[in-house]
This record gives sequence, C-alpha cells and structure tokens, in this order.
Amino acid sequence: MLEQKLKSLVRDVPNFPQPGIVFKDITPILQHADVCSEVVTEFANQLENIEFDVIAGIESRGFLFGLMLANHLNKPFVPIRKQGKLPHKTVSESYKLEYGQATIEIHEDAIAPGTRVLIHDDLLATGGTVVAASKLVEKVGGQVTGFCFLINLAFLQASGRLDRFSKNVVSLLS
Ligand code: AMP
Repeated sequence: MLEQKLKSLVRDVPNFPQPGIVFKDITPILQHADVCSEVVTEFANQLENIEFDVIAGIESRGFLFGLMLANHLNKPFVPIRKQGKLPHKTVSESYKLEYGQATIEIHEDAIAPGTRVLIHDDLLATGGTVVAASKLVEKVGGQVTGFCFLINLAFLQASGRLDRFSKNVVSLLS
C-alpha cells in the first residue's frame, strides 16, 4: 500500500533546522521512481473531482511532485518562490514564521485572471506558507480551488485556515 511505503521512506530528522522540530525529509522517496509514479497517480485519483487549470508549487520541495503531477495531467506549472529568486516582475506576500518572517513571490503574469489553481507543497504544518501562497494567487487574479500535500501534520489543525480559499485538501500521509 502506498501509505505504508511513504511512511517507511519519509525520514524523520529530529532538531532540524532548529531544536524541537522533527523535519520530515521526503528525499528518500525520490530514490524510488516506482513510488514517485504511484504518488503522482494517487494524487491524480484523489484530485479527480477537483477542477483546476494550473498547479502552483511552493519552493523548493513543492516543485518536485508539483511539476511531476502537472506534467502527468498535462497542465501548466507555476513556481512560487522565495523573495528575490524570480527574474521577471513579481507580486509578493509576507507571512509570519515561528521565528521571524518570510516573503514569497509569484510572477505577475504567471496566472491569467479567472484561472483555477491547485496549490501544492510537500508538507502542511501551520498553514502559514499556503495561506500566503493563496493570497498571491488571488492577488494576480487566480482562484484557489484546492490544495494537495504529501504530508499533513494534522495535529497542527491547519486545514481550517485554508477553508476560506478552498475546502478541497488532499494529503497522502497524515
Ligand atoms: P507551514 O507554513 O507552517 O505550514 O510550513 C510549511 C512549509 O514549511 C512547507 O514548505 C514545508 O516544506 C516546511 N516545513 C514545515 N515544517 C516542516 C517539517 N516538520 N518537516 C519538513 N518540512 C517542514
């Protein structure tokens, strides 16, 4: 079963990047092409009833399966990146981290007005990152119609924070 395979491949790294955080390292999954294919197929199945035109992935681990899935579904992929990385004209959104703040950006012309957008990241923790990404999508005229994650740290109960954008939240591991 895919869930069992993912559980055994996701590596817990205690106290990274700072004390008290258990980092969920998804890179071992990438060593297994067959599991990557299964992940993409499972995402596609679970997203079947969600309508979207474009997948937006969040730097950097959201690029990995975000692009694979977009390619599999023959849909465009839009990168959302950390401040200062996108070369063309950008729109920005800042949000609070546990310590300090972060800013992410999207190209202002990456999403045509009215486009339905699925947002993807590797992991949902407090939800701050995807809320900021959703605001970016709306700022450039897009409509968020769903979210998908490999892992949802469900004890942090972040999916409620996403409700105001879309109630469609898919995750493969909880
Ligand atoms: P948050 O904004 O709190 O939902 O955090 C989600 C973002 O931070 C995602 O881009 C994740 O890749 C990363 N992240 C947060 N916590 C973890 C964790 N425990 N393990 C791996 N990545 C994490």
